[in-house]
Amino acid sequence: MSRFYPEPFSFGTGAAASGADEIVIVLFPGNRVLLAGDRLPRSSELPFFAGDGVRIGRIDRTACVMVEESPVPAEVESGTLRQIEIREALTLLSELEQTALCRARTLSFWRRNRRYCGACGAELEDRSEECARGCPSCGAVFYPQIAPAVITAITDERGRLLLAHNSRFREGMYSLIAGFVEPGESMESAVRREIREEVGLEVKEIRYAGSQSWPYPNSLMIGFTAEYAGGEIRPDGVEITDARFCTPEDMPDIPSPGSIARRLIDQWLNQQQETQRG
Ligand SMILES: [Zn+2]
Repeated sequence: MSRFYPEPFSFGTGAAASGADEIVIVLFPGNRVLLAGDRLPRSSELPFFAGDGVRIGRIDRTACVMVEESPVPAEVESGTLRQIEIREALTLLSELEQTALCRARTLSFWRRNRRYCGACGAELEDRSEECARGCPSCGAVFYPQIAPAVITAITDERGRLLLAHNSRFREGMYSLIAGFVEPGESMESAVRREIREEVGLEVKEIRYAGSQSWPYPNSLMIGFTAEYAGGEIRPDGVEITDARFCTPEDMPDIPSPGSIARRLIDQWLNQQQETQRG
């Protein structure tokens, strides 16, 4: 079975040096990435690629190299090569290439924003033995940070799903209640707190329902299902401006495929259809 293997950074190990065909993850500003058709390009397909990327891992024996390309070379959009949004790319790529892309996006953000030592202020250096940056002056070591966030599909006693409009969403778009885990919290207590804060409801039967890397820039989304246990819907008016329990027949616009929000909503829709058939 094929696997993705994360590796510490290594530089200049690109195709030009090794002669091997590598998977190249070219990141552009604005959360965009280069694809060749519906997959990540290989180094042999990229005439501008001189083997100067940062190796971040491999899929089986094929190296995955990250290139932070800015400004964009003119020859990038040609043939099957195209730039698209990472979110859209994640709906097209194989699971292993998705993992490589999410890792590249998160590490790219982290390296740019972790340039100086938080203890003494000296400029940090990538470490070769582990995925970390170290301080040559005081010896402090900094690892990539991942911010866990919980997202919950809440159903009521009639099987309806709670959908909420976030003030950052476009008009008419609704999704599930989500938020970051606070220091000191368990994921389950974060689920309860976010739901209480944002819509004023209590929930029970909190169950894990899968997770997804969310590299915008460094989240891990952890999905749950929960059942309504009490309270009346009271949107907080700041983050959430409207929320309601919906049936499959009465759905607002929901997130596009590729997000864990959509996966949880689709799971609920399938269950509802099975219940109706059964
Ligand atoms: Zn230091």
